[in-house]
Amino acid sequence: MATKPQRTIPVHVLGDKRIHLAPPHHGHLKQGRLKTLCGKIAVSEVALFAAADAKAARCKTCFSQVDDFGVMQKQRG
Ligand SMILES: [Zn+2]
Repeated sequence: MATKPQRTIPVHVLGDKRIHLAPPHHGHLKQGRLKTLCGKIAVSEVALFAAADAKAARCKTCFSQVDDFGVMQKQRG
């Protein structure tokens, strides 16, 4: 069984201006139950151009888990 690379979307969480990353489940996001990679609840998606802004603060916990393309890296055993 081939494993698909897990893409992520940039999101905001409540009371935090930093950009976080979450799995691309927009239904969950609308329902307010989409969790970021660092375990917080995502409240809204961030526009890609905003997420690409070098000045935008990023959550280190989330961004340490993806590569330059926002794809989750394989866990090393
Ligand atoms: Zn985060």
